Amino acid sequence: MLADHGVACVGDLLLHTPRRYEDRSAVVPVTSLREGEAALLRGTVRRVRVGRRRGRGRGVVHAELVTPEGTVPVVWFNQTWIAGRLAGEPEVFLFGTVRRRGGTEVLQVVNPSVEPVDAGEVEALRIVPVYPRLGAWGGRRLRRLVGHALPALGRLDDPVPAPVLARLGLPGIREALRTLHRPEVPEDPGARRALVEALEGRRTPAHRRLAFDELLALAGAVEGIRTRRRTRRAPRCAAEGAPELPLPFELTAAQRRVADEIARDLSGERPMARLLQGDVGSGKTVVAALAAWRVLHSGFQVAFMAPTELLAEQHHRTLSGLFGGTPWEPLLLTGSLGASERRRVLGRLGSGGPCLVVGTHALIQEAVSLPELGLVVVDEQHRFGVAQRRSLVEKGRAPHLLVMTATPIPRTLALVAYGDLDLSVIDELPPGRRPVRTVVRTRDRAGKLWSFVAREAREGGRIFVVYPLIEGSEGVEAEAVEDNLPELRRRLPGLAVAALHGRMDAGERRATVEAFRAGGIQVLVATTVVEVGVDVPEASVMVIESPRRFGLSQLHQLRGRIGRGPRPSWCVLLVDEERLGEAARRRLEVFRSTTDGFRLAEADLEIRGPGEVAGLRQWGADGLRHARLPADLDLLQASREVVASLASRGELDAVLSGLGGYLRGTGEAGRD
Ligand code: ADP
Ligand code: MG
Repeated sequence: MLADHGVACVGDLLLHTPRRYEDRSAVVPVTSLREGEAALLRGTVRRVRVGRRRGRGRGVVHAELVTPEGTVPVVWFNQTWIAGRLAGEPEVFLFGTVRRRGGTEVLQVVNPSVEPVDAGEVEALRIVPVYPRLGAWGGRRLRRLVGHALPALGRLDDPVPAPVLARLGLPGIREALRTLHRPEVPEDPGARRALVEALEGRRTPAHRRLAFDELLALAGAVEGIRTRRRTRRAPRCAAEGAPELPLPFELTAAQRRVADEIARDLSGERPMARLLQGDVGSGKTVVAALAAWRVLHSGFQVAFMAPTELLAEQHHRTLSGLFGGTPWEPLLLTGSLGASERRRVLGRLGSGGPCLVVGTHALIQEAVSLPELGLVVVDEQHRFGVAQRRSLVEKGRAPHLLVMTATPIPRTLALVAYGDLDLSVIDELPPGRRPVRTVVRTRDRAGKLWSFVAREAREGGRIFVVYPLIEGSEGVEAEAVEDNLPELRRRLPGLAVAALHGRMDAGERRATVEAFRAGGIQVLVATTVVEVGVDVPEASVMVIESPRRFGLSQLHQLRGRIGRGPRPSWCVLLVDEERLGEAARRRLEVFRSTTDGFRLAEADLEIRGPGEVAGLRQWGADGLRHARLPADLDLLQASREVVASLASRGELDAVLSGLGGYLRGTGEAGRD
């Protein structure tokens, strides 16, 4: 049963750290009991009576505890057996919560645990750990089990060298675990309170030690990937003498700088592994196209992977525009390709000549062979797992890798999420963009909104209306596309209103997007399928229904679909006043007040924790059990430095395997 709950050996049990602590460190005189607080009392029990609770049939035990300072009533509900246990005890410790007796001023102790004063196993006069339950085991029974495991600490060798710990002010692993399971009780009452608070807040050096070990293991795994990559020889793609790829616009300074960084990597001997980060609409695609151009000119193949068919098709269109008239007409490979077209594309790829293929996950299927793969581009990296990225890379010998993300990852977390990649940032938008203005409107005032939408559409704008769901579902309070479509059509007479969502087949979806681009459809009622891959400069209004259903980064991504052309653009968050909680209101206010994707991602991190932040899950960073980000950021930084210094002394592998010996759940990255 313990194994089912992740505890398969004594070491696992020692790493099962308390969730909170009970301060039973000092006896509280009955004269200073306070309602609502738990207290340790010492005295003798008398006048034990067993009764029935009115109307409930369950037993209740009443008694009195006599202490040197006075007497206090005690009551146990539903535990009549306790009367028998109390019988022969001369003196006991009780630990329980103080409550007012129904409708009176009398304080009584409710459901206290009982411990004879002369018992061998003592929880009284300690700071007592409370563990997360393991199946049927919890409370005192689990404490006792962990207690039995504690002597095994003596056999746990510390994998982290002492000088490293000393420099960081961290305790040894034995000491850290002992403190967490059996904190020493300080003499001074103030120090006792401070210790309990620090333990509960997970701020003790012992907590930091476990957090550090986890982050060290993670940083070590990431470093391992870098090192393995550096030992491989990449296809050299200097593209000497190649003409410039003609572009329909001037690159921004940021695009030029990043394109140069990539060009340098491509002409080197080691495979590039670079993350290209740039806010929505900053123009990453063309930078990838320039990289592809060099690789094609050097005689190698390029695979460009996007997370959705919609986006793959969009890229295929864009690249076909750029590469039209070159020998490298881009190919498209998605799941919805017809059999003969698919055969044709696979044949071209397998023949090994230089070519550019854009596709979805379909690219990583076994049937796809890319013998001369020189460059892998992964767009919207956060939508893919590390494993998928790797499957594509492994189709070549040691291709260059360019991963692109528009979902900004907080600076604080980039180290974890993309620690194995070099970073390039496009921090500038193409000229002529107008900032999108964002407003929050309540549904009861939506009438005015729809007349604004109608006017905007008649003047040549295009409108997105985004819903969290395709169809309404029982028990989920969120608006849905299909439920609202008839109503929207009625409110927007004379306009072409169409739905777009993931349950439509690929052809239908493509036709809808095309019509929206061309203006035949003016209002697109969609789910988040439009989050990536719809690049329509006329789109100037986005109405988002039930916006509290989306994370801030996702809202940001959605909002990035508008404001791509010269029209002034509006993002309208349509909220239901009653359903909107205070937290959601604050979140939406953050979103309204800034268009800085990084700030929004940081705010997401603070509000929702790292598990929600794009890009982290694949690294197992949301599976961190002891480390907390961003709180433990300093330790993350330290762990990277320690990894570097251990690696330079050849000690890294030993330390990592030592850590692996007792850490669980942090090894995800190691599988890369
Ligand atoms: P993202 O970084 O979000 O992937 P895209 O690559 O889709 O952005 O570019 C967004 C839009 O900006 C596209 O329509 C693209 O043609 C246009 N664009 C990109 N770079 C420039 C530039 N330097 N000048 C003008 N328009 C540009
Ligand atoms: Mg893009």
